[in-house]
Amino acid sequence: MSTVASRLRAVRSTLPEGVELVAVSKFHPVEQLREAYDAGQRIFGESRVQELLPKIEAMPPDTRWHFIGHLQRNKARMIVGRVDLIESVDSTELLHLIDRLAAERGTVQRVLLEAHVAAEEAKTGFDPAELRAFFARGGYRDLQATHICGIMGMATNTDDAARIDADFAALAALLRDCREAAPDGDLRGFDTLSMGMSDDYPAAIARGATLVRVGTAIFGPRH
Ligand SMILES: *Cc1c(COP(=O)(O)O)cnc(C)c1O
Repeated sequence: MSTVASRLRAVRSTLPEGVELVAVSKFHPVEQLREAYDAGQRIFGESRVQELLPKIEAMPPDTRWHFIGHLQRNKARMIVGRVDLIESVDSTELLHLIDRLAAERGTVQRVLLEAHVAAEEAKTGFDPAELRAFFARGGYRDLQATHICGIMGMATNTDDAARIDADFAALAALLRDCREAAPDGDLRGFDTLSMGMSDDYPAAIARGATLVRVGTAIFGPRH
């Protein structure tokens, strides 16, 4: 068994039923993605459009792609309708642009809204209060061709387990709050909570993650 296959198996063995694994393959060559694919992995995460597009061409057609990086508005056109889930929608402008592009293509684009709860200033994403307000005013009602499936977030990059746990708890609470704030009652299909990476995904699962994004623990360090 290849190294990638055995690491993938080790990660999978720790995931409870109902938690999906995104194999974050950014910066890794297609050969390694193939090894993961051959070991049964179907969902891959990429963070740069220029790296994603050739990988889409190179991998089998039933590979599912999640875009997890900051999406520049001028590149949205290149991926809308081609990826299963855009996890990193970080502004209402980008959301509406994606919606227009998806409508033009005659498709429905699935997205997550990225929330910023970590201590780092630099990380992108909606402020939690901004997201609650968006749902409270029914902001999703304007969308023609976009399905908001849930929320994506990251914990603070720290060794402090209590801080990491608090960040994941805040993301889980935010998903609930947004659903409750929505004037339409129970929002159908708004139930994905994408959080947890190689170093912290067990803590994320303990707080209710339904999707974990794991790169290094499967593919090794990025160069
Ligand atoms: C790179 C990346 C990951 C994976 O990180 P690892 O520590 O390698 O598991 C997860 N989520 C996002 C948004 C990323 O950019």
